Amino acid sequence: MTDLYARHQAVLPDWLALYYENPIELTHGEGRHVWAADGTKYLDFFGGILTTMTAHALPEVTKAVADQAGRIIHSSTLYLDRPMVELAERIAALSGIPDARVFFTTSGTEANDTALLLATQYRQSNAILAMRNSYHGRSFSAVGITGNRGWSPTSLSPLQTLYVHGGVRTRGPYAALSDADFIAACVADLEDLLGHGRLPAALIAEPVQGVGGFTSPPDGLYAAFREVLDRHSILWISDEVQTGWGRTGDHFWGWQAHAASGPPDMLTFAKGIGNGMAIGGVVARAEVMNCLDSNSISTFGGSPVTMAAGLANLGYVLEHDLPGNARRVGGLLLERMRAIGAGAACVREVRGRGLMIGIELVRPGTDEPAPELASAVLEAAREAGVLIGKGGGHHTSVLRIAPPLSLTVAEAEEGAAVLERALLSV
Ligand code: PMP
Repeated sequence: MTDLYARHQAVLPDWLALYYENPIELTHGEGRHVWAADGTKYLDFFGGILTTMTAHALPEVTKAVADQAGRIIHSSTLYLDRPMVELAERIAALSGIPDARVFFTTSGTEANDTALLLATQYRQSNAILAMRNSYHGRSFSAVGITGNRGWSPTSLSPLQTLYVHGGVRTRGPYAALSDADFIAACVADLEDLLGHGRLPAALIAEPVQGVGGFTSPPDGLYAAFREVLDRHSILWISDEVQTGWGRTGDHFWGWQAHAASGPPDMLTFAKGIGNGMAIGGVVARAEVMNCLDSNSISTFGGSPVTMAAGLANLGYVLEHDLPGNARRVGGLLLERMRAIGAGAACVREVRGRGLMIGIELVRPGTDEPAPELASAVLEAAREAGVLIGKGGGHHTSVLRIAPPLSLTVAEAEEGAAVLERALLSV
């Protein structure tokens, strides 16, 4: 055990889990690569949980941060903040939400918390519809709408949560149905839930479930849900913390796979927009955003340094068409991983979209989740120089691949070759 690992364990919470038997201390990065304190170089296929969105040490972002830090680091929202206004204008225009207002926070959790505050206040109901297998953050309110038991440390909650089917396509009672019948069954499940008790304020859903193992419904599910929600004036909140900014390749936002319904009432974002700087936020139409009748403030939300990073990072994503790169390189990587998965007895399913690829592992010859194999593949990939993530439902048996969106074809091929050997070795 390294000295730093021992000190980590002595002073930090037990539940702050680290990856790997011998955890890694990353000291620097460049592009899609990172280096550990012992000098080992890794290809980064997880981007610090989908957060290094463009690249490590991207000169444009680093310069924007340094320049802004040299001028003023903090002023608070009590004063006009030019970078905050500029980033809000860009995000409002990109959001697809009409008459959009943007509120900045410092994390995805706080963004979802804000969306819940707005929805419950606007609708005067503390009931919330959430998806099974969901993850929306770590706060007291967010864990109360988390369907993923492994990430919900208390059942006490200020909210009454009703869990809806549909976020997981290939497991559960509707798995054998066709896409159309799957959607019809989930809509019937939603209607059934609404028949009981008080009317919920909102449905919150991740278009592709992140922590849940990159699972998603058939395209169009949320459009079908929307028709039901509209009949009861229930709001739709799209949690785009993992799926935003073109990560899924085909779409700039995950909700656009369900676009027949038009945009959601609110969307929440975080992770990639700051390329590692702490930015979260919520976009809502003005009527919903402005429904609070008291002051509300986030001291650090919208701070000039993070906003400068966000502006530079978002500009880079759009100017270099990184969503298009995610679609092209992600498509190649997905096909390659599907071919590899077909030849590996422990792979149940390879799924995903853009640069968000999940590989679900089972004990060979069964349909039982294999968290021990997922850990073994994670270790084997690390040994061979590639960092990936884990996730998935009640058992952590899904490998998660989510490199920076600037991934090159050569890097995708290099990573896939390592993952092939790792999958075949366990
Ligand atoms: N929503 C989703 C979909 C997430 O994946 C996460 C983080 N994994 C969050 C919310 C919470 O974000 P944060 O960790 O920044 O609070």
